[in-house]
This record gives sequence, structure tokens and C-alpha cells, in this order.
Amino acid sequence: MKLFVPAETREGERRVALVPDTVGKLAALGLEISIQSGAGESAYASDADYEAAGAVIIAASDVDAQLAIADIVPTVRPLDPDHASKLKAGAVALSFLQPANDTENINAIAAAGASALSFDLVPRISRAQSMDALTSQALVTGYRAALVGADRLPKFFPLFMTAAGTIPPAKVLVLGAGVAGLQAIATAKRLGAVVSAYDVRAASADEVRSMGAAFIELDLEALEAGGGYAKEMTEDRAARQRELLTPYITESDVLITTAAVPGRQAPRLVTAQMLEGMSVGSVIVDLAAETGGNVEGSVPGEEVIVNGVQIWGGRDVASQMPVHASRLYAMNVVAILGLAVKDGELKLDPEDDVFDGCAVVLNGEIRKGA
Ligand code: NAD
Repeated sequence: MKLFVPAETREGERRVALVPDTVGKLAALGLEISIQSGAGESAYASDADYEAAGAVIIAASDVDAQLAIADIVPTVRPLDPDHASKLKAGAVALSFLQPANDTENINAIAAAGASALSFDLVPRISRAQSMDALTSQALVTGYRAALVGADRLPKFFPLFMTAAGTIPPAKVLVLGAGVAGLQAIATAKRLGAVVSAYDVRAASADEVRSMGAAFIELDLEALEAGGGYAKEMTEDRAARQRELLTPYITESDVLITTAAVPGRQAPRLVTAQMLEGMSVGSVIVDLAAETGGNVEGSVPGEEVIVNGVQIWGGRDVASQMPVHASRLYAMNVVAILGLAVKDGELKLDPEDDVFDGCAVVLNGEIRKGA
């Protein structure tokens, strides 16, 4: 069976679904591996590195022909409709893919009679943890958020006791303590900041404390859906949460927001009015900027200054650390293919919870529409 990795086509995407280190792991499943020339360049993996690992390099002019014979096509972003239309019947495309937002890509894969597995929909069961690319990429974004905060803040993170006097540590507040939030907490702690956090899920309190941060208890009911995810807030609760969080926001030097509810716009946690009390030079890192923003005024991919407060809006944040983001993603690809490829054959069993969850299209049939 042939696995082919075309270059990512979305502007700003620097990750790649295959790294040289995972070529051998995929070959061990009985796959012949090929990759488009230059596909790993922005993740610092050269054609020579892939070749040395045993992959065949495909020129850009031969991509369509390669797509037409490939059995498995992993990418980070969904295969674009033009590429998808070249897939052979029975092939499987593997990427992040959202039924609500990627309808053209999904229709093109279905029209080709192929299948599409989405990392957005891998169920959060322990057996599938090694395949959970949402988690692996959230780890990267949380780490990066803390570093951006430390870099932009015109102050130290750690406490310094010097001959010239004592400098107090920076105060970092993290809103949304899921995978990204916990990693932001861990990284800010390592840099010496005093960290506190809030999340709507009751279970997050212990997770936050286990990272050495303070959990902010608010007099509000917890909001939990299944699978470790949060539920959407009502507007009343949102207003009350904003009111109760304002004093904590006002006194923080760095605010990192990561709150998300699957399939919904990011919850608005912070309004422009709430920023008025923050000190000039304080920093906000909004990891939810691309999905509507946790913070009013944040712009994806831009840094804006409102009343002297710097607001960094995240865009393609995992792509900003393409080497390890790609490596983790590629390991997720290896793990899911380890389940899908048996005795040199591709078997996407819809009775298996993993494929039942993440197979958006199965042999041309759309199973998870918008
Ligand atoms: P996510 O990206 O969907 O959301 C980020 C965080 O925002 C979540 O913790 C959520 O509770 C929080 N949030 C939502 N609305 C909020 C609001 N109004 N105010 C404050 N916070 C709000 O979540 P995620 O990081 O992907 O995962 C959440 C949890 O799922 C993890 O902490 C973990 O416990 C669990 N998880 C389990 C597995 C597994 O079992 N395989 C894998 C990954 C994560």
C-alpha cells in the first residue's frame, strides 16, 4: 500500500504530516512512503532527510499522478478540493477536518469515493490518546502562549532578590485550563511567575493545583459536557463570570485565554471594559482569536494595543513551532494508522469507536455532515 504526503497548501501552514523519524515506523506497517518535494521545508525537514529515511520524493508536477495511486494521504489541514478530486476510490485522507467548516473538502473526498478521517473527531478514550492530535497540538500552543507572554511583558517573570532590591514575580492568569491552558500554566511556572487559573469544568481545579497554580473558585455552577469538554454558557452566566473575574484580570500582568467549546464560537470571557483596570504594558495572549476570540478586540495574527495593554491574537500558533508540532502530529498519524492498517491492508471498521468517531466520509458516504 502506498502512503503519499502532498505539501500543505494553506497559507501560513508550516507543519507537515510526516517527519523523517516516522518514515521507518510507517514502513514497518508495510507501507511504501512518498512525499512531495519541499513538503517538510518549513518544518526544517529536507528532501534529503526524507530520502535518507527511506521515502521517495515526488516532484510537484507528479503530485496529481501520485494522488491517483495513493491508498493513504495524511495532511495537517484538510486536503483541498482540487487534490481531493484526484484521490482513487477506497483511498483514505487523514487530517484535521471539521464537518461544519470544511464542506467543500468533504464533498470532494466523497465524490472521489474515498474516505476521510478527522483528528478533530477522534474520541477522547484512553485507547486513542496516542492518536489525539488536538491534544498534541494544544500542548504546543499552550507552551508558546506562555513564552509570548514572557517575551512581550516589559517585566521579569521570576522573583529577583538583588543587591539593588527585590523585584516581585509577574502574575499570570490563565482562563481555560484544558490541555493548552495547563501547558501554559506549567511553562509560566517554570519561568518563575505566580500563576492562577479558572475553568468552568469542576475537574480542572485539581489539575490546576497539581501544576502548582492557584485555582480561582467562583460562586458559579460547573459547565461540563461529555468527553472532558465544556458546555456553552448562557448570556447571564457569562455576564456574571465576567463580573467575578474582573478583579483577577485587573491585577494580572499577563492574561492567557484558551477557552473553547467544541463546535461553537469561542466564549467571550473578557470585554474591552474589563481591560481598563489593567496596568499599561500588561499582555494578553488570546489563543482563541481565530474562533471569535475570548477577548474583545483581539485580532488573529496581530498584536493590537488597547489603552496601553498589548493583545496578541493567536493564529496558526502550533505552526509557529513547526518542528515539534509536526513531530507530535506525525506520531499521531503513525498511531491511528497502526490501528487502521492490519496485515498490509486498510480496514476502517465503523464498529470500532475510534473510526466510528472520526470517519467523516467512508468509501464515498458522508457520515458526519454539517
Ligand atoms: P478545549 O480546547 O475544548 O477547551 C479549552 C478549555 O476551555 C477547557 O478546559 C474548557 O473547559 C474551557 N472553557 C470552556 N468554556 C469556558 C469558559 N466560559 N470559561 C473558562 N473556561 C472555559 O478543551 P481541551 O483542552 O481539548 O480538553 C479539555 C479536557 O479534556 C482536558 O483538560 C482533559 O481533561 C480532557 N482530555 C481528555 C483526553 C483523553 O482522555 N484522551 C484527551 C485530551 C483532553
